[in-house]
Amino acid sequence: MPEKNKLKEKLFSKKTNAVLDMSAEELKKCDDFCENYKTFLDIAKTEREAVDYTVELLQKNGFKEFKIGMKPSAGDKIYRINRGKAVIAAIIGSEPIEKGVRLCAAHIDSPRLDLKQFPLYESSEIALFKTHYYGGIKKYQWTAIPLSLHGVIIKADGSSVKVNIGEDESDPVFCVTDLLPHLATEQMKRNLAQGIKGEELNILVGSRPFKDNEESEAVKLNILNILNEKYGIVEDDFISAELEAVPAFKAKDIGFDRSMIGSYGHDDRVCAYTALAATVDCNAPLHTVVTVLTDKEETGSDGNTGLCSAYLKYFIADLAAEYGIAGHTVLSASECLSADVNAAFDPTFPDVNEKNNCSYINHGVCVTKYTGARGKSGTSDASAEFVGKVRRLLDKENVIWQTGELGKVDMGGGGTVAAYIANLDVDTIDVGVPVLSMHAPYEVVSKIDVYMAYRAFYAFMHD
Ligand code: MN
Ligand code: MN
Repeated sequence: MPEKNKLKEKLFSKKTNAVLDMSAEELKKCDDFCENYKTFLDIAKTEREAVDYTVELLQKNGFKEFKIGMKPSAGDKIYRINRGKAVIAAIIGSEPIEKGVRLCAAHIDSPRLDLKQFPLYESSEIALFKTHYYGGIKKYQWTAIPLSLHGVIIKADGSSVKVNIGEDESDPVFCVTDLLPHLATEQMKRNLAQGIKGEELNILVGSRPFKDNEESEAVKLNILNILNEKYGIVEDDFISAELEAVPAFKAKDIGFDRSMIGSYGHDDRVCAYTALAATVDCNAPLHTVVTVLTDKEETGSDGNTGLCSAYLKYFIADLAAEYGIAGHTVLSASECLSADVNAAFDPTFPDVNEKNNCSYINHGVCVTKYTGARGKSGTSDASAEFVGKVRRLLDKENVIWQTGELGKVDMGGGGTVAAYIANLDVDTIDVGVPVLSMHAPYEVVSKIDVYMAYRAFYAFMHD
């Protein structure tokens, strides 16, 4: 090798497409891991369903509900549910709790259409649901695709009904209609953000009138009658309901090579699932491992199930109190992987990224030192020391990883829960999977990157 090439070999970054360095056996591990991930994507489409899935899996693996005074000892596995919409799992380490915990935080809510409190109406003999979209969406993407309906209704007597309709092959589905191009001359003059407006995201739910009704609103009456027979509800019960319309399609392999997965809600169930899988596989950790799967990230993390609330801090405080330690002492010694997706470079839209500092699919799990927009505003910006520590760990464990920012400077940007955890005096860094078409009803990830996220969380928990 010429001297110049030797020097290049020594000095240049070797971060590249992971496939080139992987054996057939390693690739198969990625593909196999993703089969279970696809199942999770199809059963747990909302935060409540993700919590149900998680708790069932935790219980099967020996996790017990945390109770004050249970004084868990090394190796014990516990969990706490927050209002059915967020969950914390922990495995007690062999080191004392004041040495800090290894925290992984991912979110289980995804962009969607929420029903309003009086959703059902009839117009021109068609029954529809009014919605208020949840999270950052491009509204035009949510028309003319099959939607399913998930959630819970609390009836007047306090009893609750779970709703999940549109997922079973025999179920009906729903949709938001759009204008035919032939008559869209005026609509086409709107800009992309206004192409479909918020109040135009109305979901089609029926069209046949109730036969014996001479009065108006016979189609609405017929739908309410069906809902009454099926769920025992009346119109006012919608007031105390949380019903979420999400894409009805299933997770599928993408590409002739089946290298990717297309699905609703990779953001952020891809990090939730991989962090959960690592937690369940975690064995005799040195530091106590805490994994939080949270709600409300897509609307800014406020509210009592989001990470701006105190529920995580309270859990740590309660756990610390079991050993007579203050919660803040534990937090100050803790480290966190804020597990959320990143924007993968898309060759169709190359201009939004700076090519040396963005994430690519198949280049492994992405470590992001800082997020934020407009001069790093709202970011936690992990210290060089902590980035160095994570870098050494991932390299030592042969995890394939890359680094990347979300977009060019001043192109837009965004952040996630990292800042809220860092604000608790925890060393925090963003780690996650690159996604194509993020926040679209159908997002895409690479199977290699999914598996490397799992490997990264697993390594961190055992560090
Ligand atoms: Mn996210
Ligand atoms: Mn998001």
